[in-house]
Amino acid sequence: MTIDQSPQPFALAIHGGAGTIDASLLTPELEDAYHAGLRTALLAGRDVLAAGGSALDAVTAAVIALEDEPLFNAGRGAVFTADGTQEMDAAIMDGRTRAAGAVAGLFGPRNPILAARAVMERTDHVMLIGDSALALARRAGLAMEEAPYFFTQARWDALQAELAFRASGAPDDGNEQRRHGTVGAVARDRHGNVAAATSTGGMTAKAVGRVGDSPVIGAGTFADNATCAISATGHGEHFIRHVVAHEIAARMRWGGQSLAEAADAVVIDQLGPIGGSGGLVAVDSAGRVTLPFNCAGMYRGIAQADAPLLTAIHREEYRVSR
Ligand code: ASP
Repeated sequence: MTIDQSPQPFALAIHGGAGTIDASLLTPELEDAYHAGLRTALLAGRDVLAAGGSALDAVTAAVIALEDEPLFNAGRGAVFTADGTQEMDAAIMDGRTRAAGAVAGLFGPRNPILAARAVMERTDHVMLIGDSALALARRAGLAMEEAPYFFTQARWDALQAELAFRASGAPDDGNEQRRHGTVGAVARDRHGNVAAATSTGGMTAKAVGRVGDSPVIGAGTFADNATCAISATGHGEHFIRHVVAHEIAARMRWGGQSLAEAADAVVIDQLGPIGGSGGLVAVDSAGRVTLPFNCAGMYRGIAQADAPLLTAIHREEYRVSR
């Protein structure tokens, strides 16, 4: 199934992270659960867009749904640091004005994306970290959770496996794909505005205090009505060094490339060869979407006006639902 590349009244694209996504571990039940989680997020965002709501509200709603789903590495189900703690990063950007908000290293708010949005809407700043971010979240009245809410056995086991691998003295296999995960959404609304939102627990066994690309505006998250909105997932250090999201927008703006051309050039041609595994979802100001990735799979979904919902994990056909 190819994705309709004609202009759309509204469009939403989401991801639930990219990586190895070992097909042999993916039981039919688990696969169904991933598709269901993606579908729930698509419905949340599409409802907003269909009703004439803003792209900003749509990406917020979609990311909240993904953060609430423990299968994905954001909010509930976030991965663990090397010290066994959880530190979450999130960012949101409004393509109308380039207003942006981000948080990093956060633990407490049930939905880190709402903390990022609070930074955008309630402060003069773009990024807040630590106690100050937490205090803002409390002032904004965001729901808070304790450690048991965020804990999942699968993420804990993944940490133990990664620590055991490191302790074994085995040479680094360079396979960062197994440590990935993140959620994100991009949208174009009926009014022609775009927005992007990204939320993550980061990478399994990351150092305490490590911040990835997700909350870095221009790297993992970017939105500008003049070009496009982007939410990335992958090995964050590479995405920061290549300023991935802004690079795509710049190729469109200065190079006259289409969204799909620009995104493929960066994800496939630029990041692929250097081991910058991952992918992204993107929408341009006419509502065309593209979802390139350079690894085995990316949990992803698309909702366009007057079209069925599409969800996929590997490179196979999209699963179609209403
Ligand atoms: N990009 C995220 C990070 O580096 C992780 C991911 O998307 O898999 O924190």
